[in-house]
Parts: sequence; structure tokens; C-alpha cells
Amino acid sequence: MKMGCFDDKILFKIYQRDIIFIKFYIKNMIKNPIIVFKKVKNINIKVKRNLDIILTVPMQTRRQTIDTIIIKRQEWINKQLEYFKQRQTPVKQYESGEVFKFLGQTYTLKIINSAQNTVKLNNDCLELSISDNFASIDKKALLIDKWYKDQALHYFMPILEKYRQIIGKTINRVVIRHMKTRWGSCNPKKAYINLNLELIKKPVTAIEYVVLHELAHLTHYNHDSNFYNYMSLYMPDWKSRKKLLEL
Ligand SMILES: [Zn+2]
Repeated sequence: MKMGCFDDKILFKIYQRDIIFIKFYIKNMIKNPIIVFKKVKNINIKVKRNLDIILTVPMQTRRQTIDTIIIKRQEWINKQLEYFKQRQTPVKQYESGEVFKFLGQTYTLKIINSAQNTVKLNNDCLELSISDNFASIDKKALLIDKWYKDQALHYFMPILEKYRQIIGKTINRVVIRHMKTRWGSCNPKKAYINLNLELIKKPVTAIEYVVLHELAHLTHYNHDSNFYNYMSLYMPDWKSRKKLLEL
């Protein structure tokens, strides 16, 4: 695949199927955008809630064109960044009263002094029993993270199995882990599925959407019309489910 001159200060470069992701340094930008080279006709700019700036551009787009577009849209980009910055969740301190999400519901953290370390839900509370009165944030975070992982395994696996049976495909490996930019991914050749651990905070209907989306990639590699027709066939309301991920 040919591209313009992108050799100056490339921060990373990833090839995925017929798409190329490049992050490179742009002068005067607070945040470096990720440029996605793809078989598209038009340039599209998107600012994501994690503050990533994504520019989708046709394969042959030159660096100069990208710079020009970014300068032109700078004000809009900054506005978007500001909007999402204000909505970012503050860093957790793991103290009683903080809120935690689980399957789309909100729970209030309650720290309980106890002989054993346990995490459990009790009505609208997420109870963290901990033996050490002065446990560090890291230790509390680890216990809660472990609990989220256990829950993710417990809830994601039956959903995967349900939709796997519906579409009649085989999966060779499932990994649930923290993922920075995506809710899930699929390697169709190996039949590997990755799911973002953060999904456990979303409603079950939204988790089902991501699961089916990744499973659909076993049949349709790209997000083309066949892919979306396939999604609609097995999950006619996938669009409204997808919106739940943004809440
Ligand atoms: Zn996809």
C-alpha cells in the first residue's frame, strides 16, 4: 500500500487486515491524532470519549492534506476534547461512598473492616471487606478488579456460548482483559475473541451486542454492508444496544 511521506516522528504504526493505523506527531497539537488509512472516499474526524482523535482517510492521502484538515478543524477538535474532558470520571480513591458500575447499574462502595478480604454486592452497595484498616488504594483496586474479572467470566461466557450456538461457529480462545480503545476484537482466522473487561459495567443487552459484533467478524471480516445485514439478522435492535455503551 502506498502512502504519502509519513516518516517524520511516527509514534506507532499498526497493520490490521487492509487498514493501517498511524499515530504521528503534529506540530502545535496538544494530542497527537491517530490516522487510519482505509478504503474510504472521504476524510472523517472523530474525537472519542477517551480523548483519542481519530482521522479516517483514504489510502493515498498525503501528509500535507492531513495537516491542512487538522488545522482547519482545530477549533472543533479542541471543543470536542474539552467536552469529553469534563465528562471524564475522576480517578477512584476506593473510599466508601464512591460509585461503581456493574451491568449498567450504579453501586455505592462500602468499605467494611473484616477478617477476610471479600467483595460482594448487597442491595445497592458494593461491599469491600478488607482486613487491613489502612489498605492502600492499589490493594483495594486489585481486589475490586479481581471481582470484576470474576464477574466478567461469569457473565460473558454464557452470552458467548448462546450467540456462538445461534450463529453456529466455533471459537478457539476467549480473552477478557483491559483494552484501551475497543470493546472487543476478533481474529477470524484463528477464531480468537477478545473482550474488554470494562464491558462488565454495561447493561447485559450492550454486552450481547459486542459479543455478537465480534462473532460476526468470524464470517464478515470488515464493517461492510454484509456485516451489518448479518448483525441485523441475528440482532435487529443492535443499534439501540450499541448506544448503551456510550452511557
Ligand atoms: Zn468490528
